[in-house]
Amino acid sequence: MVKIAYFDACIETPEEILVAADITPIRLFGNPMIGIDEANEHIPPNHCVWARNILQQALKGLSQDIKGIIATHGCDCTNREFDIWLESVNLEFFYFLNAPLKRDNAALKFFMDDIKELIIQLEDKFNVNITTEKINRAIKEMNYIRDLLREISKYRERMILSSSIFHDLVKNVQQMEKDKAKEMLESKLNELKTTKSSLDKKMKKILLTGSVIDDTEFIKFLENLKYHIIIDDLCIGTKYFWNNVDETDDPIRALAKYHLNKPIYSTKFPSYERFKTLKTLAEQYNVDGIINIAQKFCEPVLYSHPYFSKKFRELGIPYLFVEMEYNRESYRQLTTRFEAFAEMI
Ligand code: SF4
Repeated sequence: MVKIAYFDACIETPEEILVAADITPIRLFGNPMIGIDEANEHIPPNHCVWARNILQQALKGLSQDIKGIIATHGCDCTNREFDIWLESVNLEFFYFLNAPLKRDNAALKFFMDDIKELIIQLEDKFNVNITTEKINRAIKEMNYIRDLLREISKYRERMILSSSIFHDLVKNVQQMEKDKAKEMLESKLNELKTTKSSLDKKMKKILLTGSVIDDTEFIKFLENLKYHIIIDDLCIGTKYFWNNVDETDDPIRALAKYHLNKPIYSTKFPSYERFKTLKTLAEQYNVDGIINIAQKFCEPVLYSHPYFSKKFRELGIPYLFVEMEYNRESYRQLTTRFEAFAEMI
């Protein structure tokens, strides 16, 4: 089966379109264990470390069965990096999906038109026919996967499932063929139904937010410091299964609406809209604190931080902001800060 990778900081790529084309969507993740010398030749030193890491992998060559890339509008880094991909990366298919920042009717029409253009280009390049029926079937399949993930997430909330295992599950779903993902999730859910909690109830319950956090080792690092991520607003997390696509509407409209109706992701503005979502989650899950992680030079998260810091202080909700490098050595260097926050809350 043909695979197409998507480079998307805020998870707004409509995977259903690829599934309907019998193409496997593969979300690109960073690899904190590699050097990034080739990427450094293309971009300035203050470019986000996560996006830089993905560029490095692309320059080195992605897996041979990946035939193309969809870059979906996220932040300025992802947008401009796509221009470098076009010039320097060897793939058969490139598409920039312009997911809009605004949420009004004009934005909806704009997004629908861009999804339609994606369909035309996929059909043309891969000689496939992406019919309404096939998209409707793919929407049902993805909604079922979202249902399963929401159900499994409840075991994380009840402290039966660890944050790192959950994180790893969501990552796998974003890279697997969806049939296999369904089987994996069904089996995990069955297992959880008879699992008793072995997690330490004294772990600090936190809401995790910030940049793309795709290294499960970082989540394990937090667990070792006695943090349990009871909830998040991340792309490898709740943003991937926040709600379902309307199965009764025209499928293109339903897909565009689904993505525009999700709470705004951390790569986008305004900060006060993001704050409202975080406040609601923090109160709903009665968290001990909020941890906001910025990958080094992640401008959108750096921009929101002073506002969040002020607002959470006013509410009396403990809040920790950390900017970090995209490598595992940097986690260890941050141990003292995380330990100090755990002691404080
Ligand atoms: S981590 Fe931040 S700067 Fe980097 S791609 Fe994501 S949103 Fe953009």
